[in-house]
Amino acid sequence: MKITIVSPDLYTYGSMVIGGVLRDAGFDVTLTKSLESPEVNADTDADTDVILLSLYSTLHLLDSRIRDFTSQSDKTIYVGGPVSAYPEIVLGELNVDAVIIGEGEESTIELLENGVSEDISGIAFRSDGEIIMTEPKPANIERPMPLIPDDIRNQSIRGANVYVETHRGCIGACGFCQVPKFFGTKIRSRDIEDIVAEISEFKRRGVRRIAISGGTSSLYQYGNGKSVNVNAFIELLQAIAGVMGSRNVSVPDIRVDYVDEEVLRAIHDFTMGWVYYGIESGSDRILKEMRKGVNSEKNVYAIELAQQCGVKVGGSFIVGYPGEAIEDYQLTKDLIEDTFLDDIFVSIAEPIPGTHLSELVLKTDDSENPTFMEHGGEYRALKLTESEARCFDLALHAQMCKSVPSILTDQLYNACLDDAQAQGRDVRAVTRLLQKYRGRRTRTDQISSKNKDTGIVT
Ligand code: SF4
Repeated sequence: MKITIVSPDLYTYGSMVIGGVLRDAGFDVTLTKSLESPEVNADTDADTDVILLSLYSTLHLLDSRIRDFTSQSDKTIYVGGPVSAYPEIVLGELNVDAVIIGEGEESTIELLENGVSEDISGIAFRSDGEIIMTEPKPANIERPMPLIPDDIRNQSIRGANVYVETHRGCIGACGFCQVPKFFGTKIRSRDIEDIVAEISEFKRRGVRRIAISGGTSSLYQYGNGKSVNVNAFIELLQAIAGVMGSRNVSVPDIRVDYVDEEVLRAIHDFTMGWVYYGIESGSDRILKEMRKGVNSEKNVYAIELAQQCGVKVGGSFIVGYPGEAIEDYQLTKDLIEDTFLDDIFVSIAEPIPGTHLSELVLKTDDSENPTFMEHGGEYRALKLTESEARCFDLALHAQMCKSVPSILTDQLYNACLDDAQAQGRDVRAVTRLLQKYRGRRTRTDQISSKNKDTGIVT
């Protein structure tokens, strides 16, 4: 059977993993990032039997290219990826045959071999006007070599050609994040030998820079005898640096409460020397609302510790969380002013369906949601929403408070404004989509409320 995996615009790691699993199961599998690819284009005589569409963003469901693609294709299409956490919305928005829920390694093979039915684990599909979901099976964390495309060397995701998974799951419970729901709250780590073999293969295929993904990086081997297994994390970084060279390895995301001096020294010695913290807010009240599990004091301590260890610190911040008052926002500005971060990313709170934030947004009237509230302050003339104004203002503020401040040029001003407006548009669109599906029910009688093996909450 000929299968084409379409991962629009970029090769996600998940699409490469599924590609490898299917290849080793005997399928003739191709991976493309183009919806125009001859294997799948409705205007060509495409010889694919089944298309697997890998979607990682809620915005994909509103993307006219993807909507047209699914409505014009006469092929069987199954959707997988992070959007599968809200299958009722996928099935409501796209003309596809089924959604592969959560980790798809097991379900995809079952589905391809048998077709859509209630006997297949971990799928959602329409039947007689209702949506049926079946219980997902946890995937085996050890799997075959990914299907690596020939042009992987040309891909850049925040500077890395590819993000490689070292473990699945996160013990955090951040209200805006879907990782714990998608991968579970129990950490499942891959063997170091498998990770190194995979990275060596990526390197052989032309990859020059890799990033480590998997919730928060220092949770690698968490729970195997110790809570945070510092030695395992150091061994992991050392081994990866041995293949790629330390300057070609980055550790993008890490929780401030799971770093110490040893972890930071290892990041300094075996990676490009940056750590990225999700600081999110300078207000303890909002951090609590976000369920971050840390307060400002811990955030500042982790920043300073990294700086003392010679590690550069990037911080990401979220503005426009429901209930964020102007005083909370001011505390975020103060924190940025006080900490001399090396780089700063600002996002408007995006209510990914199924997260605690999405529930909060659904309970918040538009008139009190910063995503829709008209900004009446300093940037009134720009006709921004309150979220956009804070995103714009914080980005400008950050440029001037970084360890090496940027000169505020017209170009920089316009780039910050464009970004804030684009984010505002996207978050409004996602919120409207969420509101459209408020209260819709699926038939889930075959799905348990919690899979006890993995901790995956369904
Ligand atoms: S620590 Fe990171 S991965 Fe874990 S729940 Fe929070 S944001 Fe998500």
